[in-house]
Amino acid sequence: MSQLCHCCSGKPFAHCCGLYLSGQAYPNTAEALMRSRFSAYVTGNLPYLRKSWHPDTCPDLSADDLNTDWCRLEVVKSKQGLKKSVVEFTAWFRNGDGSGESALHEISLFKLYKKRWVYVEPLSDWP
Ligand SMILES: [Zn+2]
Repeated sequence: MSQLCHCCSGKPFAHCCGLYLSGQAYPNTAEALMRSRFSAYVTGNLPYLRKSWHPDTCPDLSADDLNTDWCRLEVVKSKQGLKKSVVEFTAWFRNGDGSGESALHEISLFKLYKKRWVYVEPLSDWP
């Protein structure tokens, strides 16, 4: 049995985000990119997080940004455009004090940059 992907797609990791994190392919939709970024956080892939972040908004990432113990992802909805896309998701993580799980809910903006989808920033509401 191959390992199922961290992004909860139900597909084997090697045929889902594993393709992107290893550099064999690059996601051609914002939702696939969002999923692969979640998997990058789970697997601690900082170079991929930098590569998939718009240079104008990418923070100075360090190993400290990988401390969250992410456990699962649900894509609520996504709207794919030609140059701009929006993905709404909920991501769960284990609380550091062992008190269970908490959720992060975000509506994320993605843009096409040099012909590749990249993460730009969270939005306060659907545009
Ligand atoms: Zn995946």
